[in-house]
Amino acid sequence: MSTTVFSDIDWDQDGKQVGTLHLPHSPDDDAWGVIPFPAASIKNGKGPVVVVSGAVHGDEYEGPVVIAELMRQIQASDVAGQLILLPSFNAPALKVGRRTSPIDHLNLNRVFPGDDHGLPTQQIARYVTDHILSRADVYLDLHAGGRTLFIQPSAHVVMADGMPPELIKANARLAEVFGVGITVQTSNMGDYRTSAGYATLKGIPTLAAEMGMGGWVTGDSVRATREATHRVLKHTGVLPHIATVPGEKTRWTRINGGKAYVFAPMDGYFERRFALGEHIEAGQLAGLMHALNRPNLEPEPVYFQSGGTLYAHGLIGHVRAGQNLAVLVEDVAAPL
Ligand SMILES: [Zn+2]
Repeated sequence: MSTTVFSDIDWDQDGKQVGTLHLPHSPDDDAWGVIPFPAASIKNGKGPVVVVSGAVHGDEYEGPVVIAELMRQIQASDVAGQLILLPSFNAPALKVGRRTSPIDHLNLNRVFPGDDHGLPTQQIARYVTDHILSRADVYLDLHAGGRTLFIQPSAHVVMADGMPPELIKANARLAEVFGVGITVQTSNMGDYRTSAGYATLKGIPTLAAEMGMGGWVTGDSVRATREATHRVLKHTGVLPHIATVPGEKTRWTRINGGKAYVFAPMDGYFERRFALGEHIEAGQLAGLMHALNRPNLEPEPVYFQSGGTLYAHGLIGHVRAGQNLAVLVEDVAAPL
């Protein structure tokens, strides 16, 4: 495997290594420099290889906080197998607190499996694909809503037609152990441009989580992320002795296609008429679009096309045509 990225971590070596992935970068002010991505391998003999990533998007902070804590606290003697930690998977985006990379404006979660000869974001994805996810037995990817989204704390697992039944079962078990209020079943096997979708396609039991929102980070959101992450790490066997507290019984849901989304019908200003977690009926008023540059126009009502539970919504009042205003989930039967 050729790769542009190089690292001071030997992924095959036992012991605790805290180091860096180096992505060569040659901008105007630095001919032969690198972009550093912190990483760690904590390996102790035989056992599962578990990869935990955060900051795939740079405005989502609970994952990086909890993973950095693991990097500081976990020693090789605590591990059975290998724990690989990527606290700032999209380090350039995290540095500036943005969803996408300021270097090439790519969304890391739309470029998998990556490209060694592509743009910087594609190169880091490819390194992780070839050198880290290639050895993973379990993958946990910690997200949040970011600066533009309010979202209920939740797990996302892929459960698509044609998947091996044992992989569906492993994903379902991960979601139940993760133990937050909502689990969303997704069926994006055809779209492996996300790191979690790619890992699932490769047969790796995988859970992605949404644990904060609004671009903030709070004691509550960090604690919930820490507790859920520790439960999964114990369940996999990689941290057999880590202390855990019981999680919630999760509610199984799905996003039922395009009609579960509400998009802005025009550029304008959206007056929201719903709240996170609310029960919604099909045809219910979602809000009013105001054209503040045309104050003589009556506001245009926007309606929900289907019913369900209000799972996520945009934050900003000033919206453009097509911008997401709300997402609904509907309950489904538990898979196990
Ligand atoms: Zn994200």
